[in-house]
Parts: sequence; C-alpha cells; structure tokens
Amino acid sequence: MTTQRTVLVDSLGICEHCDTLLTLTDMPVDAMNAEWRCAECNGVLTYKSFGYEKVGDEWKKTQWVGEDGKWTRDRPISGFELGNWFVTITAPPPIFRHITT
Ligand SMILES: [Zn+2]
Repeated sequence: MTTQRTVLVDSLGICEHCDTLLTLTDMPVDAMNAEWRCAECNGVLTYKSFGYEKVGDEWKKTQWVGEDGKWTRDRPISGFELGNWFVTITAPPPIFRHITT
C-alpha cells in the first residue's frame, strides 16, 4: 500500500553520498550523539545532506529540495508532490494542535 506523506520542505534533504531524498522526520532527533545514516547507502549524513551551510558562527539553511527533487537556492513558495511525499511549505495541518477557546 502506498500512502502519501506530508513533509515540510524545511525537513527535506538529499543524501550527500547517493542522492537519495531524505527527511529529517525519519532521523532520531532524540539521540543527539547518534550518527545519522542514509537508509539507502548507510553513509553518514552531515549538515550538507540537509542544505545547511556555516555562515559566520551560525548554521543557516541555504538550499532546499525543489519540485524536481534537486537542490535549489530558493525556498519553494508552494506545495508540490515528490514521489510519495506531498511537500508542504507551511507547518503540518493543525490537526495536532489543541483547540483552545
Ligand atoms: Zn545515501
């Protein structure tokens, strides 16, 4: 069964070793000292695989995955489909938020 996942454009990356599309959502964020590895080639992933560059003392996201599945320097301005993913440019739907009155 194929289900489409919604992923945030800022979480997308491309493996620096094998060009497989990645999402930070699949990475173990609670294991800060754990290495992140590509599920496809098992290569160790660095900031490069997620479009970050060091600018001065700060890490900045300077590249995004575009509609063609390749890096672009311009953050996409509208959502698009990429394989089984729907890439959204905004946060996920507010289904997880508490409703406050
Ligand atoms: Zn890889």
